[in-house]
Amino acid sequence: MGLIVQKYGGTSVGAPDRIKQVAARIARFQREGHPLVVVVSAMSGETNRLIALTRDITTTPTPRELDVVVSTGEQVTIGLLCMALHTLGVKARSYTGAQVRILTDSAHTKARILSIDETPIRRDLDDGCVVVVAGFQGVDAAGNITTLGRGGSDTTGVALAAALQADECQIYTDVDGVYTTDPRIVPEARKLDRITFEEMLEMASLGSKVLQIRSVEFAGKYKVKLRVLSSFADTGEGTLITTEEDTTMEQPVISGIAFNRDEAKLTVLGVPDTPGTAYRILGPIAEANIDVDMIIQNVGQDGTTDVSCTVARGDHDRAMAILGQVRDAIGAREIRSDTSMAKVSVVGVGMRSHPGVASLMFRTLAEEGINIQMISTSEIKISVVIDEKYLELAVRVLHKAFGLDGSAA
Ligand code: ADP
Ligand code: ASP
Ligand code: MG
Repeated sequence: MGLIVQKYGGTSVGAPDRIKQVAARIARFQREGHPLVVVVSAMSGETNRLIALTRDITTTPTPRELDVVVSTGEQVTIGLLCMALHTLGVKARSYTGAQVRILTDSAHTKARILSIDETPIRRDLDDGCVVVVAGFQGVDAAGNITTLGRGGSDTTGVALAAALQADECQIYTDVDGVYTTDPRIVPEARKLDRITFEEMLEMASLGSKVLQIRSVEFAGKYKVKLRVLSSFADTGEGTLITTEEDTTMEQPVISGIAFNRDEAKLTVLGVPDTPGTAYRILGPIAEANIDVDMIIQNVGQDGTTDVSCTVARGDHDRAMAILGQVRDAIGAREIRSDTSMAKVSVVGVGMRSHPGVASLMFRTLAEEGINIQMISTSEIKISVVIDEKYLELAVRVLHKAFGLDGSAA
């Protein structure tokens, strides 16, 4: 039988009882004859607790030491899960990222996986062992502990599945698949049986945290069969992330709605409207390693213009400090910012062949009196930035307007 990589997220291993249930599920798969590699997250809340602990010491820890601390949550879970498997008579061995040698670059807190040493894993599998690997962590060439960014255990799972050429990578979580939108916000959201990589990439990058975006990129690149399933329910096929668009059914125009609360908007007013201005504003922000998402430059009037952009809320203070210097250097009139912004996006490959998505989106928001502050589009998505206080309302009305709750669009 084929090798399966299973990843269990924080809530799935959130308490000793949950760990025992996960062990029982693993034992069942093993009895069916599957060689198994299991990746686990820290117990739910643990990574946040560890981050808070570092903040009690300093708000500016060195990234190296931050990784030393936040990577410990996963080490606890791998040991506990192996113990639970042992009590069921299942042979199992745990490995930290450094022990399996998940080699990453040195970009602490957001490292990228470069290679994985399969040797110890293959040896244990041949020995009939379940191999349990800590998610979210790796080691760089100099031996420093690194972490892969929030949600990074998904990427550990997919990277192991790619390295071991597993038959399937199963991501077990607290929902039974990928939904048309976050079911916590819209109870009418429906589970999708399949979603294309392209759409899943957009959904993940636009805020649907059910899969870390890098795990989707990895799976697409290395052709890993990727499935999202519930660790709380025993039935169901979950959602398959696939390269094929579903041509058997009538294509929905929109497959899903993603959102992100974590947005801040920055505006530089009264910028001289001359060549190079956008670069002089955004260049220093990029140099500070701050990701800029949307950018808008207004039509110039009287030789000046306004430039707005959005950044992650956590980067707001640093970005404002940089813009303060830029303002003086380029002679802009004023800088403004708003940290209570949110982004809502409709995503779907069906958009390519169906015009009118933007107008339905804008009309729906207008009918609720929701003001759109920024817009950006790509071939398969339309995103708008709105005031955060309207976020849930916007997601709900758009979900209905596009017929995602099962009613006709
Ligand atoms: P884990 O701890 O298992 O990694 P996460 O909390 O990272 O789980 O991801 C699962 C959560 O993602 C769900 O509980 C759900 O609230 C959220 N989510 C956001 N968008 C979606 C979506 N489109 N489909 C399913 N879940 C979603
Ligand atoms: N424990 C890490 C986090 O909370 C990684 C993960 O759960 O995927 O972000
Ligand atoms: Mg997650």
